This record gives sequence, structure tokens and C-alpha cells, in this order.
Amino acid sequence: MAVSGIGPYDPQNIFAKILRGEIPCNKVYEDDWVLAFHDIGPKAPSHILVIPKGAYVSFADFSAKASGEEIVGFNRALGAIARELGLEEDGYRVIMNVGPNSGQEVPHYHAHLLGGGPLGALIG
Ligand code: ADP
Repeated sequence: MAVSGIGPYDPQNIFAKILRGEIPCNKVYEDDWVLAFHDIGPKAPSHILVIPKGAYVSFADFSAKASGEEIVGFNRALGAIARELGLEEDGYRVIMNVGPNSGQEVPHYHAHLLGGGPLGALIG
């Protein structure tokens, strides 16, 4: 069932467990602000999840409550990961699901970074 994009943070969510090292992930990148790892069910040739180290339920929560440093750190890392993976030249897509209408399942903010091949049009 999809989760609410706002509300209290559940420290037992699966991405919190990955951040604490309680369950493994296939790590791509880590710095003071983010952890990035391969999605377990890839929807594109390259499908990376980028998550903040802070406890935020969704993009809605993050955009309202994170510090400027966290927001800049997150976005710079997201762009750098796409660049390092060689996704810039042919392009990529970033998706942030928020709440039930979007189908968000994991209640820790994450950006889906998708690329490595044609993704099809969502809009336009
Ligand atoms: P949706 O499942 O509809 O894409 P989300 O935006 O909440 O909703 O995305 C959660 C993503 O996390 C999914 O793409 C899923 O494949 C991925 N995922 C779930 N568990 C793990 C895990 N242990 N390691 C890596 N990716 C995971």
C-alpha cells in the first residue's frame, strides 16, 4: 500500500535500515549528505536511488524541513552521480514520488535516477 508523503518519520523503514547498515545495498556513491544505490527492481538500464542521510518522509517533507546545506548537498550529489555514471550525454530522468497518488512505497525521501537508454515520454 502506498504511504503518506507527510507525517511522522518511521525509523524502521527499509531505507533507514540501509542507511544504518542493517541491510545491504549495492552502493554507487556516498558522502555527508546522501547515499546512492542500485534499485532492486530496475525500471531502466540504469536505475539508481539517491536518498538523504537525514530523516525525511518524502520530497514534500525534505523541501519544507531540510536545511539549505542539505538541499544543496543532495542536489549536487544527484547531478554528480548522473555525470559520473555517464548519463548526461544521452539524458536521464529524475522522479520523486510523494504520497499515495504517486504510488510512493518507501517512506524515506528518495529520488529515482533513470537512464542508460530511451525512457519513453511521460509528458509531451
Ligand atoms: P514504487 O515502489 O512505486 O516505485 P517508491 O517511489 O517508494 O515507490 O520506490 C521505492 C523503490 O525502492 C522501488 O523502485 C523499489 O524497487 C526499491 N526498493 C525497495 N526495496 C529496496 C532495496 N532493499 N534495495 C534497493 N531498492 C529497493
